[in-house]
Amino acid sequence: MQSFTYERAASAEQAAAAVAARPDAKFISGGTNLLDLMKLEIERPAHLVDISRLPLDRIEETAAGGLRVGAQVRNSDLAADPRVRSHYPMLTQALLAGASGQIRNKASTSGNLLQRTRCPYFYDRNMPCNKRDPGSGCAALQGFNRMHAVLGASQACIAVHPSDMAVAMAGLDARIETISPGGETRTIPIGDLHRLPEATPHVETVLGHGEMITAVTLPPPPPGRQVYRKVRDRASYAFALVSVAAIVEKSGDRIRRARIAMGGVAAKPWRASEAERTLAGAKASDGAFTDAAEAALAGAVGYGGNDFKIPLAKRTMRHTLAAAAESA
Ligand SMILES: Cc1cc2nc3c(=O)[nH]c(=O)nc-3n(C[C@H](O)[C@H](O)[C@H](O)COP(=O)(O)OP(=O)(O)OC[C@H]3O[C@@H](n4cnc5c(N)ncnc54)[C@H](O)[C@@H]3O)c2cc1C
Ligand code: SF4
Repeated sequence: MQSFTYERAASAEQAAAAVAARPDAKFISGGTNLLDLMKLEIERPAHLVDISRLPLDRIEETAAGGLRVGAQVRNSDLAADPRVRSHYPMLTQALLAGASGQIRNKASTSGNLLQRTRCPYFYDRNMPCNKRDPGSGCAALQGFNRMHAVLGASQACIAVHPSDMAVAMAGLDARIETISPGGETRTIPIGDLHRLPEATPHVETVLGHGEMITAVTLPPPPPGRQVYRKVRDRASYAFALVSVAAIVEKSGDRIRRARIAMGGVAAKPWRASEAERTLAGAKASDGAFTDAAEAALAGAVGYGGNDFKIPLAKRTMRHTLAAAAESA
């Protein structure tokens, strides 16, 4: 590992200013992703600003009836919060489907959102990778791409975002609060936080250098039943091949509204808006769920090793929608 200097931030403003002051500085939160990347010298920050002890570890109720989750709330604590378990159950399900107990005890809300891809070529410094080394090429396009994206990818990069938590948050219309080095704050809809790769896959989010996530706000609990389903290679812990977060609100036997997000299919948590439109007003039935799944994957492209993800994603969506509709 390359040597680095370290400081512990005294406030969010000071942390943002400290990172902004140096182009080679980074925030460190739980460290469960960043330290692994530093050991492999894929990330080489010369200065770390530790934000893990900032008082951003509370989950508070908002005036609107939702929840405000501090950036430093640990994944375990968020999953276990009684308000999250009863009003946002698919968020608890997604968190508990991610990583292992020990990692969830360290992993923070902000770090989980900003964790980097698990593409094996990104981790292998002997291989070309536009995300790690812009302009070097993409080894996954013609390589082992079983885990890779089928939606929203580009010829520059076909990596997926690995977070489970972010997929549930995308389905819940979460909003990300940040603070900039000058003390300005802004709120970003989660769907706008991560960027698709296009020609610059190394630019992964809309955050500026030194801009720090302070909280995630969840709107009031949506009506309907929520389900998160994750398909992975092994049950103990593994990243998603495909995951689906679905909320189905019914009126009689008709679907009033559905909200659907997918994981394991794109460089960002993927909101399946076409599928949502297909379901609005439809009778809750296997036919409607099949139509929705076809709409969601209509633009999907496989790269050989990951072709199986397209039918897998359709099946997972059908089953998740059926489960959510069952007792909605
Ligand atoms: C073996 C293993 C299995 C895993 N399995 C899964 C899984 O199945 N599903 C899943 O979702 N995840 C999984 N993970 C990933 C894990 O969830 C992430 O490592 C973790 O959530 C990252 O959080 P952290 O607080 O440790 O982030 P850190 O490693 O501290 O930071 C990650 C990145 O976020 C930046 N950052 C952190 N906080 C802020 C902030 N407030 N503002 C701006 N930038 C910030 C850091 O600079 C860094 O670039 C797994 C990890 C491991 C090691
Ligand atoms: S898919 Fe993206 S992360 Fe993986 S090798 Fe290609 S450019 Fe790198």
